[in-house]
Amino acid sequence: MNIVVVGGGIVGTMHAFFAVQRGFRVTHIEREDEARGASVRNFGLVWISGRAPGGDLELALRARHLWEKVAADVPDVGFRPNGSLTVARTSAEVAVLEEVARAPEADRRGVRLLDRREAQRVNPALHGEFSAALHCVQDGAVEPRKAVRAIQTWLRRRETYTWLPGREVVAVSDHAATDDRGETHRGDRVVLTTGAWHRGMLARHTAGVRRVRLQMLETEPYGETLTTSFADGDSLRYYPAFDVPALKGLGAQALIARQHHMQLLVVQRLDGSLTIGDTHAYDEPFDFDLDEQPYAHLLATAEQILGRRLPPVRRRWAGVYSQLRPGASGLYHRTTVAPGVVLVTGPGGRGMTCSPAIAEETLAP
Ligand SMILES: Cc1cc2nc3c(=O)[nH]c(=O)nc-3n(C[C@H](O)[C@H](O)[C@H](O)COP(=O)(O)OP(=O)(O)OC[C@H]3O[C@@H](n4cnc5c(N)ncnc54)[C@H](O)[C@@H]3O)c2cc1C
Repeated sequence: MNIVVVGGGIVGTMHAFFAVQRGFRVTHIEREDEARGASVRNFGLVWISGRAPGGDLELALRARHLWEKVAADVPDVGFRPNGSLTVARTSAEVAVLEEVARAPEADRRGVRLLDRREAQRVNPALHGEFSAALHCVQDGAVEPRKAVRAIQTWLRRRETYTWLPGREVVAVSDHAATDDRGETHRGDRVVLTTGAWHRGMLARHTAGVRRVRLQMLETEPYGETLTTSFADGDSLRYYPAFDVPALKGLGAQALIARQHHMQLLVVQRLDGSLTIGDTHAYDEPFDFDLDEQPYAHLLATAEQILGRRLPPVRRRWAGVYSQLRPGASGLYHRTTVAPGVVLVTGPGGRGMTCSPAIAEETLAP
C-alpha cells in the first residue's frame, strides 16, 4: 500500500509513523522546512483528565497507550507518565472535583480526590494556596518542540519513507495530491493533515471546523522539580469531564480570565523550565499582538499555587489549532475530499494527545 500524507505536524507524522510500521510506503509532504504550527507550540500534555466520558475518554486512553509504544521506539519524544493535579481553591471548585471523583468512569480515568496534605505528598512543589486537588495518574507529557522532529528522524532512516518539505499541496484529485512545483503524488490513499489551514482548496470541506488562538509562555528553569503537571480551577470550565451538576455553582470567573477564556496549565519541561498557558480566542481576525494582561494573570495564579516566585520568562508565543465547531458531532473532523483523499483535522486542544489514535483510525483496514 502507498500512502501520501500532506502536513508535517503531529497528526500527519503519526499517520506516517504507523503507516511505515504497517509496512506501507509513505510520501510525506510539508509546505514549511519542518513543522511550525500547533504541534510544536503546545504544552505537550497527554491529557486524559479532561476528556468527556465515553468515546472521547476512550480515544484519549488508546492514544496514551500508543504514545508509550511510540516512545519505546523513539525515546526523544520525551513521554513520561507524570500525572496531574487539578487544584481547587474554593469550596465550589472542591464540589466539582468531588463529583468527578465519584463518577462511574473515575477509575478508568485514573482520578482520585486528595486533600491538600495528600496532594503535597504527590507534588511537594505546590507550596501555595489550594485546599484539595484531583490527582490523575493517567495524564502524561511529551516534549512538543522535539517530538515531531524525533519521530521524523526515526522515519527518515526507513527506506519506505520519503520526506518532501518545502512543497505546498495546491490541488487534489482521485488518489492524488499535486504540489506547487506541479508534481503529482499518487497513493492508494492520500491523507490531508493540514491542521488549521481551512482555506484555499479546503474551504469547501472545512465548514464544520473553526480556528482557536492561544497565548503561551515558557520560563527559565525552575529551581524545584514538579513531579506532576497542574491546572487551576478555571480549567473546570473548559474540559468536558467537569461538566457535572456542581459546575453551575462556580460563579463568575475573574474578569481578565473571562475576557480571554483562560485557564492555568503548567507543565515542567525536561530541562526544568515551565510551560504556562493559556488563553482562547475564537473570533477572527485574530490579534497579531501578544497581549500582556492575560500573561500577568497566568503568572500571578501560578505563583499563588506554587507559593514561590517564578524565574524570568524566556519566551512567549501564540498558536492556532483547528477545532470542531460547537454542537458538531464526532471527536474530530474526518471528511472525504475526493475518491481516495481524506481530510483529518479539528482535534482541537487534544490533538497532541489523540494524534496516534486518530492515525490508527485512518489506517484501520
Ligand atoms: C498553544 C497550544 C497548546 C496546545 N496544547 C495541547 C496539549 O497540551 N495537548 C494536546 O493534546 N493538544 C494541545 N494542543 C492542540 C494540538 O497542538 C493540535 O491539535 C495539534 O498539534 C494539531 O496537529 P496537526 O498536525 O493537525 O496540525 P499542525 O501542527 O498545524 O500541522 C499541520 C501542518 O500542515 C502543513 N500544511 C498545511 N497546509 C499544507 C499544504 N497545503 N501543503 C503542505 N503542507 C501543509 C502546515 O505547514 C503544518 O505544518 C494545543 C494547541 C495549541 C495551539
